[in-house]
Amino acid sequence: MAKFLYGPIASRRFGRSLGVSPVTDSTCNFGCVYCQLGRIRYSPHERAEHADVDAILEEFDRSGLTDEDFDALSVVGDGEPLLHNRLGELLRKLKSRTRRPVTLVTNGSLFVAQAVREAAAQADIVSPSLDAYDEASFARINRPYGGLSFASYYEGLQAFTHAYEGQLWLEMMFVKGLNDDAQALKKFQKLLEGLRYDRLYLNTVVRPPIATAEAVDGKDMQRIQAALGGIPLDFLSDADYADPEQDALTALKNLIRRHPLHTFEIEGFLRRRGCEDAGPILQQLAADPRIEVVTRAGYTVYRPR
Ligand code: SF4
Repeated sequence: MAKFLYGPIASRRFGRSLGVSPVTDSTCNFGCVYCQLGRIRYSPHERAEHADVDAILEEFDRSGLTDEDFDALSVVGDGEPLLHNRLGELLRKLKSRTRRPVTLVTNGSLFVAQAVREAAAQADIVSPSLDAYDEASFARINRPYGGLSFASYYEGLQAFTHAYEGQLWLEMMFVKGLNDDAQALKKFQKLLEGLRYDRLYLNTVVRPPIATAEAVDGKDMQRIQAALGGIPLDFLSDADYADPEQDALTALKNLIRRHPLHTFEIEGFLRRRGCEDAGPILQQLAADPRIEVVTRAGYTVYRPR
C-alpha cells in the first residue's frame, strides 16, 4: 500500500492530480471548522522532518507512474505540508522527475518565515487559503494552534504572494454565518487588494467536517462572487478518482485515508472498474475501524477516523 502517494484523483483545479503527502496522519497547526479530515492531530508551528524525503521519492520512483498518468503532482494530502522542514528539497526533487506542474496546497500559516517562503516558492503553482478577515474570525474559522495571530498570518501571505514568481491560486472557503456577511466581504475586499494572485477560487463546505459548519447556498455564492470576483467551485462533482492498486477495496481504503469520499464517488469509482453493485464494498468500508461513515444534510461520506 502506498504510504505517501495517492490517486490520481480528479481535481477541478489541477485535473488528474497525483497527491504526495509529506505530513501524514491529519497533522496540522490549524483546526479549521470546515476540515474534512476527521480528527486533527494538532501540531505546534515548529517544522520537522515528518516523512522521510528519500522514502517519498523512492515510492514515487517505484510507482512506475509517468507524466501520461497525471496532469499535476500535488503536494497536499492529510496534513499541512509547510510543517515539513525539507519541503523545498522535496519540491525541487519532484520537479526533476516530471514535466507536469508540481503544485503545493497549503493553509499558508507559516509564510511569515522567509525560509518557509523560499521552500514553497519551489512549486510551480501554490494554492494557499484565506478564510478569515480579522483576529476573531481567524480564531473562529481556522482555530490555529496557540501563538499565531491573524496579523502575522496575513503579513506572511502578503510577503509570499508578492515575492513568488509562479502561479498563485488563492482559495477561500466560505462557511454560512461565519465569514459570508456583507461586513466580512467588505473586509475581504480590502485584504485581497493587498495580495497578488493569478486566480481566486471560491469554495464552500461539501464534506462533513469535524465541527458543525454549514455550506453557503448558490445565491450566497453569487453574492460573494459579485463582491470579490473569482471562480466558485461547484458544490459536488462525480470526480474521476483513480488508484493504480488492482484490488478495488484496497484502492478505496488508500484514497479514503487521504481524501474523504462521498458514496456516489465510491459508486462511480466501482462502476468504472465494471462493478455495478457497490453494496458489499460499502459494507466492508463501513466495517473498517479506521474509517468513519458520516451522514449529514442528506449525503454520506467515508473518511479517516
Ligand atoms: S482544512 Fe487544512 S488547514 Fe484546516 S485543519 Fe484541515 S488540514 Fe488543516
